[in-house]
Amino acid sequence: MKGIEPITRLVSALSALPGVGEKTASRLALYVMNSSDAYVRELAASLIGAKDDVMLCSVCMGFSETDPCAICSEISRDHSIICVVSDFKDMAAIEGTGSYNGLYHILHGALSPLKGVGPDEIKIKELLMRLSSSTVSELLIATGFDVEGEATANYIAKLTRPIGMTITRIASGVPVGSFIEYMDKNTLDRALSGRREM
Ligand SMILES: [Zn+2]
Repeated sequence: MKGIEPITRLVSALSALPGVGEKTASRLALYVMNSSDAYVRELAASLIGAKDDVMLCSVCMGFSETDPCAICSEISRDHSIICVVSDFKDMAAIEGTGSYNGLYHILHGALSPLKGVGPDEIKIKELLMRLSSSTVSELLIATGFDVEGEATANYIAKLTRPIGMTITRIASGVPVGSFIEYMDKNTLDRALSGRREM
């Protein structure tokens, strides 16, 4: 497919996706070329629609079609506890257990000096601002148990301790290095209920 500029452009765009190498990108591009016009138009429209019509909730930083999002504006939820997660997938996993009824804060990443991710690259400032103007009694830190997740948890705990609320960390009932999003419902349930004070 070398030399056909529109296809080269498509392969290059696809290979920028996480986990997609040049080979997979070429395979996907070929799939697109062999697909119906209707499918390709729907694929393109859904990409643009997701980007255009979804915003970040100004309270929790989660993806939402409204601001504040449905979770932040739900009165029946426990607004005195905020669960801090690295990304939206982790929030969805915890939400999926059905055993947590508090609010969330999505960091959109974890601290990683090796990858050049410092405190300014993730939504820590937004968390501090939020905590300074709310009456939260517990901050439940549910970042992963890998090095980056632990570093992020410790950093946030240190930074928020002066505010005076209880800071807890979900229990690691899983091997070090595991991520929240891959925990099954029971493990995640136990991790939430077995949280310990930091
Ligand atoms: Zn929200």
